[in-house]
Amino acid sequence: MDAYHAAVELDAALRSHGHRVTRARREVWDVLVGADEHLSAQGILDRIDGGDAPINESSVYRTLALFAELGLVRESRLDETATWELFHDDAAIHLVCADCALVIHHDTDLVHDLRRALEQRSDFSPVDIDVRVTGRCHNCASVGTQMA
Ligand SMILES: [Zn+2]
Ligand SMILES: [Zn+2]
Repeated sequence: MDAYHAAVELDAALRSHGHRVTRARREVWDVLVGADEHLSAQGILDRIDGGDAPINESSVYRTLALFAELGLVRESRLDETATWELFHDDAAIHLVCADCALVIHHDTDLVHDLRRALEQRSDFSPVDIDVRVTGRCHNCASVGTQMA
C-alpha cells in the first residue's frame, strides 16, 4: 500500500464511522503501513517522529483500540507482549522463531476448517482464531547445525 492510498483508506474508514482523522491516528497508521513486522505499542511510539508535540503512549493505545474496532488492525500476542499489524484474516497463521523472534505468515485452509468445525458446537461460537506456532527459522536452525 503506498502512502497516498493508505491515507485515503484511513480517512474513509474513520469518517464512515463518524471519527475524525487526528494526528495521533495518522501517525500510528503511517507506522503500521510502513512496518513489515508486528509492532508493540512501544515499538510504534519509537517510530513516531513526535517533533515538538510528542504523542503519548495512552493515545497510541486508544488509537490501536479504535483501529481494532474498525477492523483496520490485528492484535496478536507473539510472546507476553501484545503486537499490532495491519489487518489480515485468521487464515494467515503466525510462525514465530523462538531464537530471533522472526514472524512468518503462513496461509492455510485449516483455520477455515477449524472454524467450521467449531461452529457446529451448540455451546460456543468462535470469533477470533489466532494460531501461533513457535519453532526455529531457517537461519537459526542452520546456526544450530554449525555449532553442533
Ligand atoms: Zn500477522
Ligand atoms: Zn530465527
